Amino acid sequence: MVIITENPRAAKAIAKAFNAPPGKISGIFNSDDLTVIAVPQDFLTPRKLNINTLGKLPYIPSTYNLRQNRRKCQRGFEGTVRKAILAASEVVFASESGADAQARFDNLCRHFNVGQKTSRMWLHSLRRSDVVSSFTSRESGRKLHRLAQTGLVSMAMESAFNYNFNNALHLIGFPDINLTRNEVIVLDFLRAIDEHIDDSFRSASTFKLCLNPGTGMGMMSEQSWNTIEEAETALKSLNFPSMLPVEMEVSLDDKPTQLFSTTTLQIEAFRKLHLLPGRTMTTARSLFNRGLITSPYTQKASITTIANPVASMSRAENRLYQLIRERKTAANRSECITTGKISYSTGGIDFAHALSASRVQNAPLGTSLCGEPFIEVVIREIAPSPVITYDLTSVLSTLVKEFTDTKMPFKVKGDDFGSVISSLIGKQLVKECEGMIFLSETAEDIMDNIGRLYPGANLVAFQFDANSLAAGIGTGKQCIADFGDWLYSFTAEMLDGKLIDSDYAGTVCPVCGAHAIYHNNHSIRCAECNYRIADTYLGRRLTPELTRQLLTFFYTSEVKGLQIEEGQRFSSVLALDANYQPTHVLGTDAEAYRPAV
Ligand SMILES: [Zn+2]
Repeated sequence: MVIITENPRAAKAIAKAFNAPPGKISGIFNSDDLTVIAVPQDFLTPRKLNINTLGKLPYIPSTYNLRQNRRKCQRGFEGTVRKAILAASEVVFASESGADAQARFDNLCRHFNVGQKTSRMWLHSLRRSDVVSSFTSRESGRKLHRLAQTGLVSMAMESAFNYNFNNALHLIGFPDINLTRNEVIVLDFLRAIDEHIDDSFRSASTFKLCLNPGTGMGMMSEQSWNTIEEAETALKSLNFPSMLPVEMEVSLDDKPTQLFSTTTLQIEAFRKLHLLPGRTMTTARSLFNRGLITSPYTQKASITTIANPVASMSRAENRLYQLIRERKTAANRSECITTGKISYSTGGIDFAHALSASRVQNAPLGTSLCGEPFIEVVIREIAPSPVITYDLTSVLSTLVKEFTDTKMPFKVKGDDFGSVISSLIGKQLVKECEGMIFLSETAEDIMDNIGRLYPGANLVAFQFDANSLAAGIGTGKQCIADFGDWLYSFTAEMLDGKLIDSDYAGTVCPVCGAHAIYHNNHSIRCAECNYRIADTYLGRRLTPELTRQLLTFFYTSEVKGLQIEEGQRFSSVLALDANYQPTHVLGTDAEAYRPAV
């Protein structure tokens, strides 16, 4: 059996749990019937598209090629992994992370031609007993396949977005800003907050009645009125006795404290420790790697401590660990909270006041009547207040509430909006000041340019489509096609219709049929498959026009100046041979190479 994981610490923990000692190659552990392998997360990476060589914008790839990152591993790693997989009856993927990780595993399986059974163990923690139990309860089948589809589509969307959006951004005057989809969602959201806050301050005040103000027991009317005159009319119709029969309701609420989820941990760590969310996640990840806490990537309230602190923890690790431990203690205590309110109704108007915890601490539970002397009723103006603010913690919780698909069983790492905000602060596109976050001037400029195209709302909609693949809704192909159509027109609109097309626009790849031929590094290549030929043939440069003829129609018009070594120069028609490589066809043979149309 082979267990693959992307986390070197996890590999060590799993190997230890099953008594597999380290092998000769670092990251690989071996026992008689088990091999544990730590494969770097970027072992296979999507081939990067380069606008300077590809010369096309917008460009929506029809396939997304992966390239092996050989520098990532020790010599002999690949061969050893191949051998271990070949001999295994089952290949298990161990991970604490979501659809993106499952997609990477899917790619690995394709790369290593895994034909045998595959399964997945959810690495909730690195504690020996948890590792063993997640191994015995590992899953396989359709659900994992669908999760991988979700991740693959999401990766393809990210790669197409990066190429088109960032190159277009460069061309409209914002060079070297590399934004991801989720970063654009956050920037667009912060821009929308500006508008929302302006709007809410433009809306009018409302009016309420306040009974016995200034007594500490002032009760506000639940009803409100749009004008002061309407409130006055309502007030005139009311009669108050000198002693008000006020109803007091005291109840005991069982409000158990919840453990942290990714977002609540980020919010609390920011509030109490002023750690930016990205820093919280790297710190939590390192606590997880040390086996001290459970996986910090979860939407469930499940982050908890599982081992005692160790001496070598950093200051940030220590503080975050304590925060998680305090929460665990509070959650175990399952405290009950006494709450209370007083209320009074007359003439169809309901007045109420929530009592502070100290006031009701010793009050008897249940409903009782008490007398409260009537003092006065006044009209209060209630100023409009925006529902959302620039406060980082409220921005974060709104982002998560509105833009995260809670039906997804496990998060995609990029869905962690806290870390996205941190990375934007690092790129100086978002500024943080005393707990408030704002767009920087550059980010405001960018959003002024593209805000009209609503990138945030669109990106979220497509991400939700991609996520629903995990539930078996729709097909990945359709998802990518829809996203591609939108991205194409979005990019074209960013460029104001000034599309870029290369010298090879009319050239078709003879192998895969894609319009994706480009010239780079003395060769002519296809961006969609591995097809390539040299950019010269027998001393003649293959111009874009010759290339177009050769690749698209499989033969060229007559080419002069061909030369074999030091021999006589001659002319010939060029054609593609059975391996799609250039060859020359002398004289009447040329006819034979005309494709039958
Ligand atoms: Zn091709």
